[in-house]
Formats: sequence, C-alpha cells, structure tokens
Amino acid sequence: MTLVSAPPKFHATIQDSSDRAASVAEKPRRHRVVIVGGGFGGLAVAQALGGQDGIDVTLVDRRNHHLFQPLLYQVATAILSPGEIAEPIRHILNPYDNIRVLLGELDAVDANRRAIVIEDGERIPYDSLVLATGAAHSYFGHDDWERTAPGLKTLDDARRIRARVLLSFEQAERTEDPAERERFTTFAVIGGGPTGVEMAGAIAGLAREALARDFKAVDPTKARILLIEGGQRILSAFHEDLSAYAEKALTGLGVTVMTGHAVEDVTPEGVTVDGRLIPTATVVWGAGVQASPVGRWLDLETDKAGRVRVAPDLSVPGREGVYVIGDAALSLAEDGSPLPGLAQVAHQQGVYLGRALRAKIQNGMPPKPFRFRSRGNLAVIGRNEAVVEWGRFRLKGFPAWLVWGIAHVYLLVGFQNRLLVCMRWLWTYLTAHNGARVIFDEDPDVLWEVESRRRRPQRS
Ligand SMILES: Cc1cc2nc3c(=O)[nH]c(=O)nc-3n(C[C@H](O)[C@H](O)[C@H](O)COP(=O)(O)OP(=O)(O)OC[C@H]3O[C@@H](n4cnc5c(N)ncnc54)[C@H](O)[C@@H]3O)c2cc1C
Repeated sequence: MTLVSAPPKFHATIQDSSDRAASVAEKPRRHRVVIVGGGFGGLAVAQALGGQDGIDVTLVDRRNHHLFQPLLYQVATAILSPGEIAEPIRHILNPYDNIRVLLGELDAVDANRRAIVIEDGERIPYDSLVLATGAAHSYFGHDDWERTAPGLKTLDDARRIRARVLLSFEQAERTEDPAERERFTTFAVIGGGPTGVEMAGAIAGLAREALARDFKAVDPTKARILLIEGGQRILSAFHEDLSAYAEKALTGLGVTVMTGHAVEDVTPEGVTVDGRLIPTATVVWGAGVQASPVGRWLDLETDKAGRVRVAPDLSVPGREGVYVIGDAALSLAEDGSPLPGLAQVAHQQGVYLGRALRAKIQNGMPPKPFRFRSRGNLAVIGRNEAVVEWGRFRLKGFPAWLVWGIAHVYLLVGFQNRLLVCMRWLWTYLTAHNGARVIFDEDPDVLWEVESRRRRPQRS
C-alpha cells in the first residue's frame, strides 16, 4: 500500500512545484516604487499608486506623520495643538494593500545597485525611486545662530518656539530688572516672507489679545515685536500693493517692520542690526531654506539652495529610475524660471508623477512634461487680515482672510483635523483666547532654555 500510494504523492509534488515554477515564470515581477518622504509631494505619489496592479510601494519617512506646514505658525503661537495639523502617514495610506510604510531615515542612495540605505544600514531595493524629502532651514553660513533662532519646519520647532515665547512672558513677570523685562518682552522675527509675516502677526495677536490680562507685573500688550527683513519690502513674491498693505496691517497690529536691515549677529543676548544690539530673548528664524541633501545622496551638483535639477518629467538625468520632487527639486516653469518651494507645487508634482509612473509601468506610456498650474499666492497677516494674489487678481483684508481660511481647511489632510481646526478657529475668533498655551516639561529645549536663562549673569 505504501509503495503503491507513494508515487502519486511524489508526482503530485513534482507537478505542484513545476506548476508553481511555471506560474512564477508567467507572473511578471511587480514593479517596486520606493518613495522617501511623506510630505506634500511623496504622499501624493503614494496615493496615486495606491491599489494599482503590478506595483508595490514602500514609503519611508523619518517621522511617523504627515505635517501641514502652512499652519505650523499657529502651533508656535498656541492657537492650535500639534495633533491638529499632523496625521499618521500609516493611517492615511492604510486603505491601500500595495503600500507599506516604514519609519526610517534615508542615509544613502546606491544608484548603481538601485537600493536605498536607511540609517541602521538596511537596504531597500527599488525599480523606481522618488525623493520627496523637502527642505530645512538655511542660516547662510551662520549655523551657530540656530540654537538661539530656531526656524519653523517641524512640530518640534513649533513647540520649541511656543515654549520660548510663553517662557519669555513668564520670565518678564518674575524679573525686577526693567532692562531684562524689556529684553524678555521683545520678540524678533527674522525674514519678511510669508512665514515671518505670519509669525510676527500671530505673536502680536497672542500678546495683545490672548495674554493681555494674564499677567500682573508685565503688560503683554506693550510687547515689542520686530520683523526684520534685509530686502526693501516684505512679501517680495507678491505685488507691491499687497506688500505695502501687509506692512501697514502689521504696523496696525503693533509690529515694527524693519525693511532694508540685514541681521549681523544673533546671540542669546539679542540680535545685532546695523552694528546695534537689540536685546531680545526670543528670536524666530524665517529667512532661508536649504533643500535636504539630495545632491550628496545622488552625487550630483546642486543650485545654491541645494536643489537637484530635474528633467521635465521630474526624472534625474544620469540616474536611471530616480525622480526628485517638491522642495528638493530644481524644476523649471514654462518660462524657464525655477518653481517656488510651495505645497501646491510639491502636491501637483506628486500627483503628476504618480500617474506618470502608473502609465509607464502598466502600459509603457512615456510621460508628458509636468506643467505647474498656480492656484494663487496666499499669506495671512493676522485676524481678518490676509493677502491673496492669483495672476492679475488681487485681494486683501477680510475677504482675503476668508479665502485663506477656507483654502487651508480644505487642504488639511483628514476630516477630523478639518473639523478640529474649524472649531478651534471659531473659538479663538469669538473669544480671542489661544487655547494651546501650555508649556510641557518635555517641550524640546525647555530645560536648556530655563537653565541658560538662569545661568546668564543678571544685569546690575
Ligand atoms: C512654516 C511654513 C509655512 C508654509 N506655508 C506655506 C503656504 O502657506 N503655502 C504653500 O504653498 N506652501 C507653504 N510652505 C511650503 C510647503 O510646506 C513646502 O513647499 C512643502 O511642504 C514641500 O513639500 P515636500 O513634499 O517637498 O516636502 P515636505 O512636505 O517638507 O516633506 C518632506 C518629508 O520628508 C521627510 N524626510 C526628510 N528627510 C528625510 C530623510 N533623510 N529620510 C526620511 N524622510 C525624510 C520629512 O520627515 C517630511 O515628512 C510653508 C512651509 C513652512 C515651513
């Protein structure tokens, strides 16, 4: 019985394995797309490839969340809480079975062997690689300023700035020294682009409304808020009329706008402008950005801002299967000018590239060149004050502020975030009460901050 029954089993096994071999041979290998960065660009690529036949996607990010950077300044000024503008990437991409999300930091790209290397040495092979790693701050060669003048790019940055602003008022309340009190209630924002304008306006709002009655020894409404810009006007990417309007509106909010003044030094004592020290304990950097090190990873030349030049289909010439999008890419508009570092550019590039990869992998279709369609330029100045520019169309004041608010809520990822932000804005609008004014012990730099202020010799 045993001898008789054995052969069929043996045959079945051979049959099974040859079937499997045949089916493996017949089944085309799935195309592996690796995306680094789950920001505006990377997330849009992943969503466009979600659920697609024959494509496996791996998205790697060093943070577990997608961040809506345009509202970071509201976290830094205690209007919103960090969780309201961030959403776990894993959760956003959860509906797609063909996408896996990995927490890890890109360390190197092995373009010859088509693999990326993450910080612990793990290699992840790819057929197509999308680098969407964004940008960081640039201190124009003064990296030592970073500790004193944090920029606004991550949730940690926003919490750090929020802690410093709130701690400054606390220190001002405690000190008996009028000069120190003035230093603690002087806030310097460096850079008159949209981020600097938003920050200066929001600190003014916090001091003049939300904190107005919270202190006894110090009057927050008398806080000095300086917006320091090296160029001749703030919001230089906007029409001159809108720049002038923004400057007037900021002045109305109590911000001192200093255009044509380059910052020469930043120390814990204050900022030096035109050879004069302006004592301040809180400095916010909004002056420059530098692309993430894509040039180093790909061993390629970059422009001054660290961006790698990409072809019209967003591929990197000389690095087969590699694409760079968003703030890390030097991508040209139809008139030959570089596209700006904006969320709408990164998002449109991500959607385009996701669809182009899909068409190429599934049907072998060559991509058409990427075309950016501007959805307009927006900057908020303060409550009821914003500017909007879309081609020749210009809007300012309350209507612009409404457009800004609707656009930002619409663009936020996740229904829950949209709802929470709307409710929080309504509450802040009606009560002028910034609800997120808690300083947490674990806030980055809080201990360093408290210690360094304590160690600083007291003025006599
Ligand atoms: C304060 C502020 C306000 C802004 N306001 C506006 C606005 O109002 N309108 C507008 O259009 N644009 C605005 N922008 C610009 C906009 O946010 C960026 O242009 C946009 O985020 C760029 O998208 P991205 O996908 O290239 O990069 P990001 O959105 O920055 O995403 C990059 C991702 O890559 C990840 N990453 C980076 N390095 C690594 C690594 N080595 N390994 C793994 N992961 C990595 C990061 O964690 C991040 O998730 C603002 C930016 C800031 C900072």
